[in-house]
Amino acid sequence: MVVNKRRPLQPADFTPDLVRPSVPLATSGEGSLLNPTTARAAEAMFAAATAAGVDMTLASGYRSYATQAAAHAQLVAVQGQDAAEVTSARPGYSEHQTGWALDVGAADDACTFQPCFMDTPAAHWAAAHAHAYGFIVRYPWMQQGTTGYYYESWHLRFIGIEAATDMVRRGVPTLEEYLGLPAAPTY
Ligand SMILES: [Zn+2]
Repeated sequence: MVVNKRRPLQPADFTPDLVRPSVPLATSGEGSLLNPTTARAAEAMFAAATAAGVDMTLASGYRSYATQAAAHAQLVAVQGQDAAEVTSARPGYSEHQTGWALDVGAADDACTFQPCFMDTPAAHWAAAHAHAYGFIVRYPWMQQGTTGYYYESWHLRFIGIEAATDMVRRGVPTLEEYLGLPAAPTY
C-alpha cells in the first residue's frame, strides 16, 4: 500500500487492524497503535535502539481519518493553506492512516516533530539502522518534489526488511522511485 498526494486511501476512511506495540510511548489512544506487522517490527527496532542507549519514543502511530481532518484543518488555520499542504496530509491521504507509518521522538528532547530532530541521537540512529528492521525514512531531505512533503527525519514507513535494505543499498531516496511510481508533489 502506497499513499501519497496522488494515491489516497481507498476507501477514504480505511481502518487497518490495530494493536499497541510494546515500545516506549510518548502518545496514547489511537496514536499509540500500529498494524500488527508494523507493531512487531517496531518492537524489534525500539528494542535495538534502547540496547544501543538511544532515547527513542513512539510519538505518533495510527491516525484516523477524523483525527487527520482535525489536525490538517488546525494547521491550515495556523499556517495558511500553502504551508500546511507541505507539512500535513489532507484527510484520506495520510500514511499514518494505513497503520504502516510511525513518528519517532525522544523523551528528553524538545525537537520532536521539529526540524532540529534531525540532529538528535534518535534521528541519527534511525537513519543508520531503521532499514534493518524494515523501515525507511519516508520523506527525505529535498525530495518534496517526489514525495510532496518537506524533510521529516522522524517519519518512518515499514516496507519490509528486504525492500528497505535494498533501497538503502542502491541509494534510492524515495518509495515512489523505488516502486516506479509517478512523483506526487501536489494533489
Ligand atoms: Zn509522520
